[in-house]
Amino acid sequence: MTAKFTLSKRAQALTSSAIREILKVTERPEVISFAGGLPSPATFPIERMRWATDKVFDECAQAALQYGPTEGFTPLREWIARRNSKHGVTIRPSQVMITTGSQQGLDLLGKVLIDPGSKVLVETPSYLGALQAYSLFEPQFSPMQTDENGIVTDALTAEQLKDARFMYCLPNFQNPTGRRMPLERRQDLVKKATEAGVLVVEDDPYGELSYQGEQLPSLLSMNPDNVVYMGSFSKVLAPGLRLGYLIAPEELHGKLVQAKQAADLHTPSFSQRIVYEAVQDGFLDRHIPEIRTLYGHQCELMVSALERYFPAEAQWNRPAGGMFIWVTLPEGVDTTALLTKAIEQHVAFVPGAPFFAANPQPNTLRLSFVTVPAEKIELGMQKLGALVKAEIAGIKSPVAA
Ligand code: PMP
Repeated sequence: MTAKFTLSKRAQALTSSAIREILKVTERPEVISFAGGLPSPATFPIERMRWATDKVFDECAQAALQYGPTEGFTPLREWIARRNSKHGVTIRPSQVMITTGSQQGLDLLGKVLIDPGSKVLVETPSYLGALQAYSLFEPQFSPMQTDENGIVTDALTAEQLKDARFMYCLPNFQNPTGRRMPLERRQDLVKKATEAGVLVVEDDPYGELSYQGEQLPSLLSMNPDNVVYMGSFSKVLAPGLRLGYLIAPEELHGKLVQAKQAADLHTPSFSQRIVYEAVQDGFLDRHIPEIRTLYGHQCELMVSALERYFPAEAQWNRPAGGMFIWVTLPEGVDTTALLTKAIEQHVAFVPGAPFFAANPQPNTLRLSFVTVPAEKIELGMQKLGALVKAEIAGIKSPVAA
């Protein structure tokens, strides 16, 4: 018997991405995959987490196994408020809400801020997981112009800003491009958004992973009354913990708490207490430099391989942090078709098109330099470079191809 049910219009509109299906193949061990957005498991501080877990069991097992407040475990909220009180701004613990990964923050913001047809400003391209999360609430995406320094604030017009519910920004080592917004652009962006009465959503899971130069002030620090900041423990501890957080102006914070209550009551007490024990003595300041060294080295290897194996017509950036490099191939190359050929050669990447809210650029792709160990980066990039060269040659002389 076939089950009978009527899907909501929202669910009917959901589609599963063709690329996700192709990428399932990349989990096979023989495939060198630059596709994943996963942190390197070599960075997971296993002994520290074991120690913290034992401590929680020894000192507060019952509380750790009990329900907790929707806003999150108070000592962890206080720790997050202290850590984010920098660049001249003081964050109060009452502004902090712990979320089940920062991905939940994206969903909750969609729930409380988007009506069908609401205008939401997004970067070009933007984080696919955010586009998916917001899409469930049926917004009208308005793509903001970007260049190698992120959002082009001069191109933001009063017309584009008018009536927007919020602008979704990734100023540090953006997913998918690896770009970082310089200080002046950040200041200009917050000024323009504030003047136009548009809330800024700052998604910042990669800010601490900088390999060159100083960390730049967050958008939050420039106007905490008009910015919602999202942070995550996924890239600095481990993503399996599913621990992220939101810092929001207090009026909005209350609504987000109500939405979270309906979603999952609260983020696991157990993970929150373990992470609090793991980080409270300054552990991250010892641990993050190790991640930076590893990823910084792997980034160098990938850039060097791009220089040696990719054709002159290809363009890419040299990221100063994060996990990703964005490659633009000549017009006419379709990286989704290229991916199928790449998988046959046991190498993978993510085609760029799905990261665009509108007008996708099929000749772009995203490479992650963190998950594949150093010794395999060289081989994988050699294979990929040869494929890209063959693809471009095929476009130039389609008959010969
Ligand atoms: N935002 C961005 C930009 C991301 O790249 C990711 C993870 N890939 C997330 C949010 C979600 O991260 P998490 O839920 O693990 O905190």
